[in-house]
Amino acid sequence: VLEVNQIRRYLCGGGYQETVDKKQADLVVVSTCAVTQGYEDEAVTAINDVTGKKKSTAKVVVSGCLSKINPAVLKALGEHVAVAPLEIDKFETIAPSSNSIRKFVPNSVMLNEYQQSKAFMAAIRLKSVFRILKRLTGIPGPNWLSQIPMVDWFFVRGAHGCMGKCSYCAIKRARGSIRSYKLDDIVRQIEGAVAAGYKTISFAGDDMGCWGADLGLDLADLFKEIATVKGEFCLDIRFVEPHWLLKLQDKLWPFFESGLVASFNAPIQSGSQRILKLMRRDYSVEDVVATTNDVIKRTEVKSIGSILMAGFPGEEVDDYMKTYDLLKRSKIDLWQIFQYEGRPGTPSEKMENKVDSRVKAQRRDRLEAKVKLAKYGKLPEIVSEFIVHRRFGPIV
Ligand code: SF4
Repeated sequence: VLEVNQIRRYLCGGGYQETVDKKQADLVVVSTCAVTQGYEDEAVTAINDVTGKKKSTAKVVVSGCLSKINPAVLKALGEHVAVAPLEIDKFETIAPSSNSIRKFVPNSVMLNEYQQSKAFMAAIRLKSVFRILKRLTGIPGPNWLSQIPMVDWFFVRGAHGCMGKCSYCAIKRARGSIRSYKLDDIVRQIEGAVAAGYKTISFAGDDMGCWGADLGLDLADLFKEIATVKGEFCLDIRFVEPHWLLKLQDKLWPFFESGLVASFNAPIQSGSQRILKLMRRDYSVEDVVATTNDVIKRTEVKSIGSILMAGFPGEEVDDYMKTYDLLKRSKIDLWQIFQYEGRPGTPSEKMENKVDSRVKAQRRDRLEAKVKLAKYGKLPEIVSEFIVHRRFGPIV
């Protein structure tokens, strides 16, 4: 979404007029994501829709990661120009302007973009209600709501790519190794945003944990510089891979204690060390749980989010139980649950022992139900487990 805004600003800044009427447009930009099969299906539907409705002379540009993650699918969809995530400069040839596209920084999300996600909109409405309640009664809402992005958040893209080699990940194919935005450029953006009244600065990066590795710096160096910016604001960071959280924790701690960092997302993915090894993710589950619990208990960080994946190839009931058990042991309060999908060209796609799709879906649904009841509904363990067990029966 951030890159869509960068493209929009570049085109509008160059005198191009925006229209939502596909029949009128001379140039149609379809932004895609293909990290999951569901997102890829949505992208294919959008491209087909545009192709069916556009003027015969109109050019179709497909931006985003579909062209890198599943080029075969894209090729079958007819004539278009592909602009992969690291090729955004191509717009200067497709739609020339006196400006450089790099002049336009991706840093905000419009309401209509949030409106495309029902889950986001539901959370945003809930957050708005709690904001009003807090103003009237002083009672704060649940901490996890603080991680829900709002239209009054200022987004900064801190980096592209990562240093991971996770066996299931399609992002790496699309975005490659870490490419950090420069410290001065980031700080300048934050100074401007804080001066304009933004109170939450949210960092977007495939893995902000390794920010700066290509510049001889680390995330603590970035925080140190940001802490010098005058004004009242806090940071939300997504994502910080657990490997980097553990490696840098001593250096990051002062910024957790000072309240500069209000929230972050550390995707744990699995509670089973055996599965993490198959995923090629390099950290100890016990250490991540202990550290994140400590951060919540002892620092000013309000909320930590995480991601869990159900049904990775070879996941046995025992592995799944370890993931399920994380919800009880961890103070992380915002969880996103996915089921494993073999994405094109990833090493895990070639693994044997794939989990049956019905079992994968049930494991995901069970985790989701448990999160809603135990974390968001705050029901006691015995009650939430009773309800989940009645609905899903024994774990499969
Ligand atoms: S660290 Fe994140 S973005 Fe990088 S390969 Fe692993 S899952 Fe993908």
